[in-house]
Amino acid sequence: MSTTTPLPPSVIGHWIGGETAGAADGRTLDVTDPASNRPYAKVARGGPTDVARAVDAARTAFPAWAATAHHERARLLHRIADAVEERHDRLAAYESYDCGLPIGQAWGQARRAAENFRHFAGVITALGEEAFRQGEEQLSYVVRSPAGVAGLITPWNTPFMLQSWKLAPALAAGCTIVLKPAEWTPLSASLWPDILTTAGVPAGVANIVHGPGTEAGQALVDHPGAPLLSFTGSTTTGRHILRSCADHLKAASMELGGKSPVVVFADADRAAALDAVVFGVFSLNGERCTAGSRVLVQRPLYEEFTRRLADRAAGVRVGPPSEPATEVGPLVHADHYRRVLEYVRTGREEARLVAGGERPAHLPEGNYLQPVVLADVPRDARVFQEEIFGPVAAVTPFDDEDEAVDLANATPYGLAAYVWTSDLRRGHRIAHAVDSGLVWINSHNVRDLRTPFGGTKASGVGREGGARSIDFYTESKAVHVALGEPRRPRLGGGP
Ligand code: NAD
Repeated sequence: MSTTTPLPPSVIGHWIGGETAGAADGRTLDVTDPASNRPYAKVARGGPTDVARAVDAARTAFPAWAATAHHERARLLHRIADAVEERHDRLAAYESYDCGLPIGQAWGQARRAAENFRHFAGVITALGEEAFRQGEEQLSYVVRSPAGVAGLITPWNTPFMLQSWKLAPALAAGCTIVLKPAEWTPLSASLWPDILTTAGVPAGVANIVHGPGTEAGQALVDHPGAPLLSFTGSTTTGRHILRSCADHLKAASMELGGKSPVVVFADADRAAALDAVVFGVFSLNGERCTAGSRVLVQRPLYEEFTRRLADRAAGVRVGPPSEPATEVGPLVHADHYRRVLEYVRTGREEARLVAGGERPAHLPEGNYLQPVVLADVPRDARVFQEEIFGPVAAVTPFDDEDEAVDLANATPYGLAAYVWTSDLRRGHRIAHAVDSGLVWINSHNVRDLRTPFGGTKASGVGREGGARSIDFYTESKAVHVALGEPRRPRLGGGP
């Protein structure tokens, strides 16, 4: 399929049917650099016409891709992983420049994205289909077929890696896709066309439409030609998208926000717990869905731990994202920066500010913030209840196990939780009692891609990871075969 709208220079275009294209009506959006908030590029501003073209391209490519043998799709996924790894430096530079991610942390992004492709190549190769036998009477077996065109909508934090987390299982399962990246951070998605083409993925199998969520995103959600929608983003948007999906009876997978607790008992390995807390809430600029942003500390350790956490926060090196020594870079966008600063202001009223909260003096422009520690945070405080999505830790004391669990579960969210204790039986008890999709005991955010990923309560609907992702992107059909003479009730045949 050919889309012919000319592309002006320095515009990040859509990618539809294997060709780069501007928006049908020629409109663009400015893309800003978070270190200066100055526009450095434009991105195509997609709307319903662009989405319709992309869905058409994906529908055209679907039959051949769906019919491609699973081992051939797996081979292509490995080649995509190779192509991602080959662009390691460029990807890190793009994510760092566009999102403000410290370059030292952006270097891991290509490896993680490539891992996603290799993982789902393995899953699709190993996955069997089920069979059930009822004695000699009947055999039932299940066939999976790709569900069609999948709409993928992704957020601005670690955008390329999160796109790969959806692209890999969708392509492995035999779906064709239309991806709508976040409008604030479109730069790294511009690497996909070269990566997918180099790997040999046929034109139209993967398509990208940029633009605002309310225009391009909503058009994708509402397009009847894409029966699946996988979304990662905020709970507010997810709730709205789920309502729209209900109108179209679309299957939806929702990976949403979090306000994850880190429960630190007095018997914990204090140094390890402190390192993990600091990394868990301040790495990736605190813009991480599984950030341990509520630090619950047992009272005998509380004062000491809070003081040491404040010292470490004050020592975090805030700086330009391109400098290797930088530990926290500028927040992604001026609007988000204002929102986080507003939470810091609220936090000063609701709790005790013990570190950070100001723009570092040596960084007069850009979205820079010295990491924040708020102590004595009550459970009904907004900074305890609401996702801030920035480098802000809320610290609260607890007395015993029951209170720890009660506080851990006292928000609308349920994505991740972390427990630090040298009593492993207690670690398991807490892990089982906390209402969340993920728990780590004496560890930070180390993933195993075979395990289910997702949240409870306001943090999501459904789980992805391993075979669960393939379940989402495929339809199952049960085929029943009579082996013997089936019982044959006769109606209308008389006595
Ligand atoms: P967001 O909800 O504002 O936007 C996410 C995506 O949805 C963007 O591409 C946006 O353009 C699009 N969108 C917005 N309105 C839409 C609409 N009406 N219809 C269709 N699409 C629409 O989220 P964000 O600010 O980009 O990302 C941060 C959020 O993502 C945080 O809440 C974070 O916790 C969450 N997140 C969750 C996970 C997870 O796995 N659970 C991972 C990363 C981020």
